Amino acid sequence: MSKVKVLPCSGIGKVLGLLARESVLMVTQDKCPDQTETLCLAQLVTGDDDVINRIKGQACITMDGCPKQCALKSVEAAGGQVAKSYKVADFMRAHRGEDHGTATALTEDGWNYAEELADKMVEMVNELRGEV
Ligand code: SF4
Repeated sequence: MSKVKVLPCSGIGKVLGLLARESVLMVTQDKCPDQTETLCLAQLVTGDDDVINRIKGQACITMDGCPKQCALKSVEAAGGQVAKSYKVADFMRAHRGEDHGTATALTEDGWNYAEELADKMVEMVNELRGEV
């Protein structure tokens, strides 16, 4: 089975974008490096043939920083099969009032939240691979 593609949005300038990116890197580099990989969203948007071919028809998970859902829309436009799309804010209710950091650096609370987001994605990866 091909690796599940896990893509964050490219949100710059807000902690929500950093949370999206760091949580995806936790999945693809630390938690499930043999089952997942990430791709550069900008290459999808600019129509890079190699990246488009790698994602077309493949199972994908997206993590977006805000309701504009740029990762979800870009993956769908490139022909990826989005099995699950998340937004950072989807799980924020239990974390209201916490300081997650800035656009460039997460706090301890921010890293903990990123890990929770990563674990949600890992659950979906395992489900997609029939490992639950
Ligand atoms: S989803 Fe929101 S935060 Fe992410 S790139 Fe799009 S506009 Fe920026």
